Amino acid sequence: MTNCLFCKIVAKKIPAKIAYEDDKVLAFHDIGPQAPVHILIIPKKHISSISDLSGQDCEIMGYLHLIAKKLAKEYKIEKSGFRLVINNGADAGQAVSHIHLHMLGGRKLQWPPG
Ligand code: 5GP
Ligand code: ZN
Repeated sequence: MTNCLFCKIVAKKIPAKIAYEDDKVLAFHDIGPQAPVHILIIPKKHISSISDLSGQDCEIMGYLHLIAKKLAKEYKIEKSGFRLVINNGADAGQAVSHIHLHMLGGRKLQWPPG
């Protein structure tokens, strides 16, 4: 999608610190990290939000989690713990309408979230 920030990052029109990339997925460090490890894991295909998912997105949504597992190992937060978050819509504070998994770790995280 031409006017989407994360599609522009996928297309390398906007730079990002890339943590992982393959033909289906891109993972990059959040520009405003909320934890020592804060990586955004996105499908290269544009999907706006959880609310826009269809049945054909099941595989990619599962695959994002597999990449999270791999990155957790790489960034050494596999044992200490980490949180995966998808914000959906205004009340959750979704700012970018390209679905993304936040992977947060490297510090004790509070629950419930704010
Ligand atoms: P949301 O609020 O939509 O769940 O999360 C969007 C995230 O994208 C925020 O954590 C924000 O810091 C991050 N972000 C926004 N613009 C950029 C950018 O240009 N580059 C990177 N790496 N992260 C961004
Ligand atoms: Zn997009």
